[in-house]
Amino acid sequence: MSAHPVDHDANCLFCKIVAKQIPSRMVFEDDEFYAFHDIHPWAPVHFLIIPKRHIPSMAHLGADDVGLMGRMMALVPVLALQEGCNPYPQGGFRLVTNTGAEGGQEVQHLHFHVMGGPRPWLRG
Ligand code: AMP
Ligand code: ZN
Repeated sequence: MSAHPVDHDANCLFCKIVAKQIPSRMVFEDDEFYAFHDIHPWAPVHFLIIPKRHIPSMAHLGADDVGLMGRMMALVPVLALQEGCNPYPQGGFRLVTNTGAEGGQEVQHLHFHVMGGPRPWLRG
């Protein structure tokens, strides 16, 4: 049995964004992933990368997800530069994934926060 019986959750905010039922400022899209600007940015660059498939959190990952997560992680430096983060090492970016209530997760669809740009930042 699949570890992810639900590919699309009709009640999920980020599934609605993937389906373009809710507007977003797109950064990137392919068959597996969607990236868009965070609506409340903490930093000059702040966007989210999500798998199109509804995976509620990192706590739900299993061995079958290793390839998907590797590809998601490899997108981070490419999109960070594309969106205006300065090059490493003077520039760089911060990658954050909140998981569960105590991890500070508010939207229950796995997402990477990618933040960067010149300091100071609003938060973080
Ligand atoms: P988290 O607390 O890690 O679950 O982060 C959820 C993030 O989603 C927050 O940084 C919100 O600002 C962001 N967010 C919520 N609704 C939207 C939306 N409609 N478009 C873009 N970002 C959103
Ligand atoms: Zn979802």
